[in-house]
Amino acid sequence: MNIVLFGAPGSGKGSQATRINKKYNLPHISTGDLFRENINNNTPLGVIAKEFINRGELVPDEPVFEILKNRLALPDCKNGYVLDGFPRNLAQAIELEKISKIDAVIFIDVSMSEIEIRAINRKICPTCGKIYSMVERYTQVCDDCGSDLIQREDDKIDVVRNRIKTYLSQSEPLIKYYRDRKILKTVLSGNSADETFVEVDKILSNLSKKSRN
Ligand code: ADP
Ligand code: ZN
Repeated sequence: MNIVLFGAPGSGKGSQATRINKKYNLPHISTGDLFRENINNNTPLGVIAKEFINRGELVPDEPVFEILKNRLALPDCKNGYVLDGFPRNLAQAIELEKISKIDAVIFIDVSMSEIEIRAINRKICPTCGKIYSMVERYTQVCDDCGSDLIQREDDKIDVVRNRIKTYLSQSEPLIKYYRDRKILKTVLSGNSADETFVEVDKILSNLSKKSRN
């Protein structure tokens, strides 16, 4: 199964992708994580990407395609994958169609006011990438690896607002694009990632049944 997770920044794509990866054993491919890895390692690609990410803008398509194609070429993607954060504009959607057939685009629908609150209350583990909501969380270390949690540079309020603008102008049109292609599945974001996953799971188990028949 080739799955795309689609949604506004902070809609919880990463949290759903982690759950899908555990249950369906599909590699979780996040272009955002790949860029952060490159930034941490100070690669030429990381240097380019950082500028755009810290302004809340999209990284230009060429470096995005490069990073994505290299990742999809690895053997673990042979039997499917979950894309998180790609595609984010029309040109990327068209490019993706050239390289791969997508079985479903799961759109996590969440209100814009909720997104702002979530992003500014989010922290991540710099070591293992696990995402935490700091609402009602009192410890500042990762449950899995013990590292100190950090706020992403681009989760600061001004950058969050810019990311939302970028999403509305460049990414949101893809909802119609995939609806027209009849592969869009909309899931209303629940009160928790586990609650949302119940709905995501239903969609995927139906799809995997169909693909087995
Ligand atoms: P979120 O979905 O919460 O915004 P991500 O980790 O997916 O977070 O992305 C962080 C940033 O990385 C984006 O704001 C953007 O600058 C850059 N980025 C990630 N994926 C893409 C992409 N497909 N095209 C262009 N830029 C991207
Ligand atoms: Zn960790």
